[in-house]
Amino acid sequence: MPSVIERALQAALTDRFHFGQILIRNTNGSFVLSHRDDEVRTAPQTFRNAEEAVEIAKYDDAGNYRPLKTAPNLRHGWRLELATLDELRRALDYFYPGRLAVFAAWKNEQLRITPLRETLDRQSGMYRIAAKISDEQIDNVVGNFCRSDSGCLRTILWKRDQHSTIASTKLPPAKFDPLQDQTTVLDGPGSATPATAIPLLCQEPCNLLVAECRKVVKGESQLSDAIPNAFGTATGEK
Ligand code: SF4
Repeated sequence: MPSVIERALQAALTDRFHFGQILIRNTNGSFVLSHRDDEVRTAPQTFRNAEEAVEIAKYDDAGNYRPLKTAPNLRHGWRLELATLDELRRALDYFYPGRLAVFAAWKNEQLRITPLRETLDRQSGMYRIAAKISDEQIDNVVGNFCRSDSGCLRTILWKRDQHSTIASTKLPPAKFDPLQDQTTVLDGPGSATPATAIPLLCQEPCNLLVAECRKVVKGESQLSDAIPNAFGTATGEK
């Protein structure tokens, strides 16, 4: 019997769809995955095992380790052929850990969303100091750290605090909209023809952002510097 995650994935399946930087082509129940920029290129490496996704996702094109799997630096030059929905689910979970489960919970209206201040307030040990970050510093660090073109492809669902303050005014409205494909801001050819997208959702600030907030408080980060609103007005309008 399909799991909740497989049911959500099955419901979202179309002939071709995007999940982050991956293009998935569905042919009679089997699947071909590639980097979305590689649709019209011949991939030098073809894999047929879902577990191969672990290695594909580990390093970027330059061979650098990818600590954040939703960063916009998935490597090119591979093709992954999978025979079943279960294999597809496993592979996508290796590429983007936890994101299908979060998507399924969101579709079922069961997703718990945690504000940044709540996440910071529950830190202990060396990360406790991160809670001292100012609102202005949050505005800048989130605006830099989470931006889709250079930081992370997740759609932010969380707020800055319990008062539903926007996470950062330095990010465009699309960054908070699950219906918007975050990869449209990236360089590269993308897919040859349009495809629907399953969003990578961010329901709670990640450990890397918490660590960056700590650096800001300790004066070790440049990301809290005021940044021009690269996306338009102070409210993030394009
Ligand atoms: S907080 Fe969310 S959107 Fe920001 S970098 Fe971490 S995972 Fe990405």
